[in-house]
Formats: sequence, C-alpha cells, structure tokens
Amino acid sequence: MKKHILHTSVEFLKGIGSSRAKLLAEAFGVRTFKDFLELYPSKYIDRTQYYKINELVDDGSDVQIIGKIQGVSTVGQGRGKRLVAKFSDGNGTMELVWFQGINFIQKSLTKGKEFIVYGKPARFGSKWQITHPQMDENKKENQKQRAGLQAIYSSTDKLKRSGFSSRKHSDSIYALLEQIHPYLVENLPPYLIREMELMSRKSALFHIHHPKSIKHYQEAKRRLIFEEFYFQQLAFLLKNKATKEKNRSFVFGEVGTHFKTFFNEVLPFDLTGAQKRVLKEIHGDVKSGKQMNRMVQGDVGSGKTIVALMAMLMAIDNKHQASLMAPTEILAQQHFESISEMMKDSPICVEILTGSTKTKKRREIDAGLRDGSIHIIVGTHALLEDKVVFQNLGIAIIDEQHRFGVAQRAKMWTKNVKPPHILIMTATPIPRTLALSSYGDLDLSVIDELPPGRKPIVTKHFFDAKRLQVINFMRAEIEKGRQIYIVYPLIEESETLDLSNLQKGFEAIIRDFPAPTYNVSIVHGKMKPAEKDAQMKEFSEGKTHIMVATTVIEVGVNVPNASVMIIESAERFGLSQLHQLRGRVGRGGEQSYCILMTKFKLSKDSKFRMETMVRTNDGFEISEADLQLRGPGDVMGTRQSGMMEFKIASLVNNRDELMLAREKAIETLKKDPKMNLAIHKGTRDFLVSAYKKLIGWSHIS
Ligand code: ADP
Ligand code: MG
Repeated sequence: MKKHILHTSVEFLKGIGSSRAKLLAEAFGVRTFKDFLELYPSKYIDRTQYYKINELVDDGSDVQIIGKIQGVSTVGQGRGKRLVAKFSDGNGTMELVWFQGINFIQKSLTKGKEFIVYGKPARFGSKWQITHPQMDENKKENQKQRAGLQAIYSSTDKLKRSGFSSRKHSDSIYALLEQIHPYLVENLPPYLIREMELMSRKSALFHIHHPKSIKHYQEAKRRLIFEEFYFQQLAFLLKNKATKEKNRSFVFGEVGTHFKTFFNEVLPFDLTGAQKRVLKEIHGDVKSGKQMNRMVQGDVGSGKTIVALMAMLMAIDNKHQASLMAPTEILAQQHFESISEMMKDSPICVEILTGSTKTKKRREIDAGLRDGSIHIIVGTHALLEDKVVFQNLGIAIIDEQHRFGVAQRAKMWTKNVKPPHILIMTATPIPRTLALSSYGDLDLSVIDELPPGRKPIVTKHFFDAKRLQVINFMRAEIEKGRQIYIVYPLIEESETLDLSNLQKGFEAIIRDFPAPTYNVSIVHGKMKPAEKDAQMKEFSEGKTHIMVATTVIEVGVNVPNASVMIIESAERFGLSQLHQLRGRVGRGGEQSYCILMTKFKLSKDSKFRMETMVRTNDGFEISEADLQLRGPGDVMGTRQSGMMEFKIASLVNNRDELMLAREKAIETLKKDPKMNLAIHKGTRDFLVSAYKKLIGWSHIS
C-alpha cells in the first residue's frame, strides 16, 4: 500500500529539515506530518485587541500595541549590554528591550517604521517596558495573518536555539495544512456532525492552529475533543464485544447448594441493594457462556469481599474452582481467614498460597489444585507462577487491581483450557472518566452504598503542637475499650530514615502508654512475615490497644473494634491513600475517628488534601478531587498500558464530553454493530488505522 501523505517524515516539511526534525522527535515524539499536526498549541494569544500605552495596567497579561519606533540605542557593557528602542503610539511612549540577538534586531528597527508589538509589559519607575517583544511590521499581509488568536506552541531550549520559534512553528503548520488539506477527510458519521453541529474535521484542524476568532477556536476544540473520546470509546466497546465473542467461557447456570446455603444460613447480615445488584450483574455474565471481564468498584468498607466470595460460590456450585489474588501477604491472609471462617461448616476446602508458604505445604497445595480437592485458593502473586496448575479454574478474582499490571491480569487467563471468568475489584473508587478511559474495555459495576448502621467517620486535622490533646483523646478511647492505629508514612528515598521515624514514634508511644496498663503492637515492611502476622494477630484479637505501623496496613485490613486511625505526617500521603487508611476504621458499630497530624506549614496542595478529607467521607468525591490535584497518570499509579494519552481532551476538565462521546459511541454501534454501513465508512477507516492493535479488528469483521 502506498504510504499515506500524513506518514511523511516531518523533516520534509517547509521550515523544518533534518536537524529540527531530530529535535522535535526528541522533545515531543513528533516524527510524521500527522504527529506534527496533532501537536496542538499550548495556549493562544488574542491578536484582535490593541492596547494604548497610557492605558496599560500591571496585571501580568500580554498586550498588543501598534506604534512607531522613535529611536534605537545600545546601553551597558558585556553581559549587561542591551538594545533599547523608544516606541510610541501617539498616546504614550515606552521602551522595548533586547538582551539577545542585538545586531540582528537593530537592523530591522529603522526610525519611523510602524510595528505591531506583542509581549508582557512591566513597569520600571514611571516607564513601561517590554523585554523581548514579538515584532511584526504593520503591513497589510501581517494584519491579515495575525487577525485572530495566535497559537503558541510548547518548545524546548534546543528548538529555540535552532531558530524554531513559536512563530516559525505556526508558519510550518500553515504550510502543512496547505499541503495536506485534501487528505483531511471527515471521520465522524454525518448524522453526528449534523445533530451535534460539529465543525468539519478539516476546519477544526485549521482553526485549532490558526483560529480566525475565539468562537472558531472553541468550536474547533469542541469537535476535536469529541472526536478523540468518541474513537477511544468506539474502540473499547468493540474490543469488549470482540473479547466476548471470541472468548467463550464456562456456563454457571445454576445457583446451587453452596450459594444458597451460604446466603440463607451463614451470611450474618442482609446484603445491601448495591451488593445484590452487582451480584446479579455477575451472575448475568457467568451464565452467558461468554467470558466475564468485569470490574467492581466500591468505596472502602462497601463489602466487596462478600460479593467476591458469592461469585466464587457460583463457580463451585458448577463444579469449578475459584481463586482470589491479593497484592500483599497480609491482605491475602486476611481474606483467607475471613473466607475460611465463613466456609467452616461447609465441605468447601479453602487454602492459601503465598511466597512464604513452606515447601511441604506448597506441594500439598499444588496437588490439591491439580486434583480439584481445593475449591478456593487465596493468594498473592505466587498464584501466577506457571507451576500453579488447576484442575478446572472457573473464576479468577483480583483484589485491589491497581497494584497489579495488565500482564498479570492476562496471566490468569491461561490457567484453564478456556479462560476463566475474570472479576477485578478496586480498593477505592476511581473517577468515572478514568474508569471509562483506562478500563473502558471492561464491564463496570459499582457498589455505591455502604452497609447500614455505619456511623460516618469523624475526621479532624491537628497540627503537631496539639499532640497532647490527641494523646488524651486516645487514652479516653482505650478506656472505652476501643483500639487505635497509628500510621507513619513510608519515605521511599530512605528506608532507614523511615524505620527510625517509626521507631522513635513507637518509643514515644510506649512512654505515653506504658506497660502493663497498655499494650502496643508494631508492624513494618522490614519485619519477617511471621513476625508481622503475630503482631497483627495480637491486635486483631484485641490483645493490644495500639498498632503502630507503616503503610503496610493500608489495604484491606479489617479489625472492627479499631475505631481510631491516627495518621502521622499526613501531608506526605496522597488523597486516595489517606482515604484508604481512614477506611481501616468505621468497620464496627462504634463512632470512629480519623486524626490527621501535620506540621504547621503546609503547601497549598497539602492543605487542600486535609480539607477534602475533613469535608467528605465519599470515596467517589475524593477520587475526583485527587484527579484534579494530580492528573490521570498519577492517580492510576504507574501508567496503565490500556490508558491512552490524549492529544487535546483532558480527563480532568472534559468529564461531560467523555460521557457524551461514550453515549454516542454506544448509539453508533447500536445502529451498526459491525460498522459496515456506508455512512460509517470514514469512521471505520479512521478507527482501523488508529486502533487496530487495541481492537484486534480481525475478530469482528
Ligand atoms: P471492602 O469493600 O473495603 O473490601 P469488606 O468486604 O472488607 O469491604 O467489608 C467491610 C465490612 O463490612 C466487613 O466487616 C463485612 O463483613 C461487612 N459487611 C459487608 N457487607 C455487609 C452488609 N451488607 N451488611 C453489613 N455488613 C457488611
Ligand atoms: Mg477489601
């Protein structure tokens, strides 16, 4: 096939050439015409407004002035040498100043010549100055080209030194658009263009780089954002469908004895409406014959574990095994214990496999998984190893997905002849925009209801100076029979510092809470698993009053009698981590508290985090705030491979646009499930070229 013109190397573009092409590739990954076209401006300046020198105000904004050069001179010596031009617009006079390129600029500044000057004015005494202004001779052609908004492009020092100014960049784009405009064919279905009154693709690409007016810019942007989201959502929806069609899995049609017995006789409480709804969604999947790929999101304490267990029982009732994988040993242990407890009067065999399982036990487990005598296996990454072979794995559940990579998820697929059903659970909610754009190929379930009777956790923020007050409060709570967590941050750069902080904190706590009246446990990452478990066990059995820990207790730990969570140096934690830690309390019937201890001087972001935590207990709200604060990449942890980077759309600012695009993508596929109607030809062609890999197009056509 002939190479499309958009895939031409950018070095062949007017004004670029091989050395600038190299710099563009280095700085922005721009290699082709297409890449260059999609490197959108970072901001715009308004060239429709002119200012008068005697009306300038010092508010930090850029201005544009028309006037004449009155005279030019050089001032100073050596590094301080500068070129100063007197510039007047008939109302007032100001100075234009250059420290660099003096000789070159001096030549162009003849006295009496009229210029359009653009830049940020600053006041020195009674005089206004602009340093390194942008200068355009006031000629007809310049007026026309600079009539609307002017695009400003991100650049690097190297690019600037190569003479590639934002202006040059803009000119190269202009040349590119002239050359390729016949190839910029429409890619959205005509009915969407009509119904949503969208600008055509060609116009949008022109006006995003060279907007004729603010209105044109806004319309171009609206169209390009929609386009970006729409194609991503189409791709996800098609992939989800292709996966289902391709991957048949086991049919768990029966809701059998184990499920019913558990539901009717063991389950100590009523399920919440949300839990019931999600279980129905899961059951719908596992009886369909198609492989389930579902993510369950729920706030801390919303009761995901029960849902997981009941999904596993569906598999067991249909003669299959089930696995539950957790990211840490402590968490796996905790799941193992609570599930074993709930299964203790049933014939269901539950085992645990982790990195620290002893060889002899390990052999027994391997054998039990192979011959099918183990029904539920709980474990850590150890479950992924090749030597873990099942007789007939029917469902694989992954808890706290964000700790695992996509590859690990995929590994579970290989554990049976047909891929087992996959259920993924998140530790805390993620914003809907992120869920849709990074896990858009999964079906999403949300447990948006907490079990009844939970008293909202009271969260307070204290400065370190108020420690005495906190200690008195702790004593009073212990007096009432409650238990307390104290968490220290993990300082990644220095494990020793970390440990010594924790150690000091521990010693201080022991001084304030001396034996034998008080018992204090300690858990940190440097301890042997057995030691950790022993300490955790003492605490969960109520033998100790206080648990001093690093963030190893962050996820999943469940001690209902613990009702106070104290977080030391809380300013060092991210929002979702703070929320996750807070979720360790409020699990019993008692009023629970979360106390955030910080130093007095806080950054703006830290203050915002503390305020958010004090204001709300809602994990969905917190995850949105976290997204605003940190941006999508950081909220997801390491960038997930499924998550794409957007060229113009923003997951932080364009939430509604994403929802709309998803809705429209669903509509499109309803009209034309395989996208082979003539009206979708352009859409389909574009989708194939942009998302071939993701969709695995061959499955649907
Ligand atoms: P998470 O969603 O954070 O994993 P868990 O599954 O650990 O939450 O559940 C938190 C606590 O709530 C557990 O003690 C669990 O037994 C309890 N729980 C779960 N569902 C309900 C319910 N419907 N009614 C009352 N308590 C429940
Ligand atoms: Mg959990």
